[in-house]
Amino acid sequence: MKPVLLVTGASRGIGAATALLAARHGWALALNYARDAGAAEAVAERIAAHGGEAFAFCADVADDEQVRALFVRLDARFGAGRLRGLVNNAGVVDVAARVDEMSAARVQRMFAVNVFGSFSCAREAVRRMSRLHGASGGAIVNVSSAAARLGSPGQYVDYAAAKAAIDTLTLGLAKEVASEGVRVNAVRPGIIDTDIHASGGQPERARLAAPQIPMQRPGSAEEVAEAIVWLLSDAASYVTGAVLDVAGGR
Ligand code: NAP
Repeated sequence: MKPVLLVTGASRGIGAATALLAARHGWALALNYARDAGAAEAVAERIAAHGGEAFAFCADVADDEQVRALFVRLDARFGAGRLRGLVNNAGVVDVAARVDEMSAARVQRMFAVNVFGSFSCAREAVRRMSRLHGASGGAIVNVSSAAARLGSPGQYVDYAAAKAAIDTLTLGLAKEVASEGVRVNAVRPGIIDTDIHASGGQPERARLAAPQIPMQRPGSAEEVAEAIVWLLSDAASYVTGAVLDVAGGR
């Protein structure tokens, strides 16, 4: 039986690209999404059309109860004990603003989705993958951002700070579970051509940013997926606690 990989935010962008590539590398896929069931089902159908196994699961990762229920449904659908991978990919940005313009509600949402959601999913995954819990190991990849080391002034310092927390979650959790057969790494994408920029009110951001990127172009979701799937794989068997920039030199 194929090992099961949960990708959060797998209905489009980096999550969808990661799910499609991971299916080609022999993973069975649990595809999480928050709102767009049709898009998540379409990713599942593309995987099934190529002989893969994939199911879509609705859950808001910012809601800890929904995350608990998501993992219970995943166990029931695939059979308990099959989870071997988690990609904490679900994430949001907001419109450009200075810190002195940000509402508390905005900052709370930014951390609820981008940080607390990753903690909740990591907790449930470790309980199912760690040898401490009687399982046989696995791998977690967290999706951070180059914003964590750039700070994103005048744009979204809240998002950058949330992603910096993801880098630290990666370092600490990696050390916590390294002796239990679970590897934990992160990718730190630069400017990637996905719909996330439209949700931040800047649909042309990726194209317009090209001159500021050493490689003079935005990255693609597929290029980030390659790094994630490698970190999940046995080819990265001695890699843990790493934060890998996939940012075109930015
Ligand atoms: P995207 O195209 O906007 O896709 C976001 C995905 O996350 C969608 O599948 C969305 O599902 C899901 N999602 C949003 N809120 C959720 C929630 N509360 N619970 C569960 N799922 C939720 O974004 P992307 O560009 O692929 O970004 C993916 C990750 O890469 C994010 O963590 C982002 O911060 C990071 N990243 C992106 C870039 C970039 O330039 N694109 C750069 C650095 C880092 P629904 O549509 O169903 O809600």
